[in-house]
Amino acid sequence: MSLKKLYLIPLLILFFIFTYYLIRNFSDNKIYIENTESSSSEIKLDDTKNFSPLVVEVIYEDLLLIKEGQTFGEILNNYEISNSVKSKILESLNSKVDLSKLNINTEIKITFTKENDLTEIKRISVLDKENNHIKVIKKDDNYIIETSSILSFTKHVLKEVTIKDSLYKSAIEANIPPNIIMQFVNLYAFDVDFQREIRNGNKIKIFYEVFLDRKHIVRQTGNIKFASLALRKDTYNLYRFTTDDNGKSEYFDSEGKSAVKALMKTPINGAVLSSGYGMRKHPILGYDRIHQGVDFAAPKGTPIMAAGTGFIEKIGMNGGAGNYIRIKHLNGYKTAYGHMSKFASGMKKGTKVTQGQTIGFVGSTGMSTGPHLHYEVIFNNKKINPMKMKLPSGRKLKGKILEDFEIYVADLNKEMQVN
Ligand SMILES: [Zn+2]
Repeated sequence: MSLKKLYLIPLLILFFIFTYYLIRNFSDNKIYIENTESSSSEIKLDDTKNFSPLVVEVIYEDLLLIKEGQTFGEILNNYEISNSVKSKILESLNSKVDLSKLNINTEIKITFTKENDLTEIKRISVLDKENNHIKVIKKDDNYIIETSSILSFTKHVLKEVTIKDSLYKSAIEANIPPNIIMQFVNLYAFDVDFQREIRNGNKIKIFYEVFLDRKHIVRQTGNIKFASLALRKDTYNLYRFTTDDNGKSEYFDSEGKSAVKALMKTPINGAVLSSGYGMRKHPILGYDRIHQGVDFAAPKGTPIMAAGTGFIEKIGMNGGAGNYIRIKHLNGYKTAYGHMSKFASGMKKGTKVTQGQTIGFVGSTGMSTGPHLHYEVIFNNKKINPMKMKLPSGRKLKGKILEDFEIYVADLNKEMQVN
């Protein structure tokens, strides 16, 4: 049985201090990063001073639909958790909901952290047939149950904000919920340097969903449907649109081009993933160690591309990693490439590289048993699993789908005018 897992990729957040989980919705493309070092709840997105890397914990979410004949226990078997944790969760859930009677397609959201292959389930949400939201939340070593009121209404909110001092502060003052701000920042993470490019007077516009209970109190936030960031020169407009052919929701610019940039998962053509992220026996050292990167086997001389636009921060021999390049991208992201046979010409410290540009060639330098690329993605100085990054398709809408999109955009623009 294969579960359709929606892996959520690490979202970028800069300089911020944030301990509040923003997991109160059922939308499908968020990642929440919790700072484990501080308890203040202020986010600073464009503070140009006080740069200090934060320790972050990446939280994943799986959004699942119960399949015919599938039990809750079977779902939990897909996570590396102990039997005692599993029975604690089941026991807790069973106290509020009859797990054997859940309908097919009942929505389940599992929020978990993964560190060195150790999975910790933080929260499980079940939306039952009465639309009750049942949550099991990890508190200390136990799982406690919580039910919340029925959500009855969806509303769309339009906010236009002129930035003063800080994007985050200005947005908060305009009563935009923090998780909507995080979604917004995430959309532009690889395009805009939130530290340097945002200026006073720049404008943002966000159109997003909220869910209200029967008393019309906002209980959850949903997706951003339209986002616009107007900088001094450029304005970036993004529309969330679900394409009919594959049912996927993505952000497109007004021309129908998938417009959210990201890092490449595989910065090399025609390679075979030879070793994934996580614990493994090191081929040369022989003992188990965490492999904080992914290896792609490819013939010597295969070009290696920059996974994203940025500047070369480090280049040269780097111990076991052999000929090595590290690129600094925007907003706390870096990528590193090891074991190269040689560097592309013109590569040196400080060189600007663009996404897809050849930076070097596959080799076997350093501690390596054969030609391969060792690739790492680093966020705020912590290595993250590149294979788990959720990527935009890069597609350009055409034909009937483009027509549908244009109608959708026109309708949405009208809707925003009356809002
Ligand atoms: Zn490796």
